Amino acid sequence: MKLVFATNNLNKLAEVQKMLPDSIELLSLKDINCFDDIEETASTLDGNAKIKANYITEKFGYNCFADDTGLEVEVINGAPGVYSARYAGEPVNSENNMVKLLNALESQTNRKAQFRTSLCLNLNGEQFLFNGICKGDILDKKHGETGFGYDPIFQPKGFEESFATMSPDLKNKISHRGLAIQKLIAFLKDYK
Ligand code: IMP
Repeated sequence: MKLVFATNNLNKLAEVQKMLPDSIELLSLKDINCFDDIEETASTLDGNAKIKANYITEKFGYNCFADDTGLEVEVINGAPGVYSARYAGEPVNSENNMVKLLNALESQTNRKAQFRTSLCLNLNGEQFLFNGICKGDILDKKHGETGFGYDPIFQPKGFEESFATMSPDLKNKISHRGLAIQKLIAFLKDYK
């Protein structure tokens, strides 16, 4: 079975392909010649994941899954949430996003936050949603260089390091996206 992962991130693609049974061939957007800018206009992560998956299934006719992630910070009512990528405005800039968040939390002792991933799978005319949550704290300054987005200022619960000082393998095992993808893979392995 061919299955499209609505992403152009080849690292994400390779990582998921490794975990899937050989009977499933994963395709990227480029593999199906989709170069469209799919606008994420929903106000929820589920909504955006559905928009992306439905776009591919409706326009290209493929089974497909898509993911959307947000960082939800407790003391600012779950912001930046679905707007995490553009928290500090356009163009997308992780450095500015982190500065804005650190400023918003400057005098706050409650640093609790979570990353949440929604994943939408369109499979043979049915739709399935999976989610993954990684709880943790927002640090008071950046730690580490690896990863992307808010990684340097997010410390997952139970660890003494930020996502940006962790090995990619460990991050994938415990992260929001990793957990959502593990649920998807378990589902696909059992799917008849
Ligand atoms: P996306 O839906 O995976 O594109 O994620 C939206 C935004 O959330 C990204 O632009 C990042 O700012 C942030 N984000 C998502 N996943 C992570 C992560 O694993 N670490 C740090 N930031 C992330």
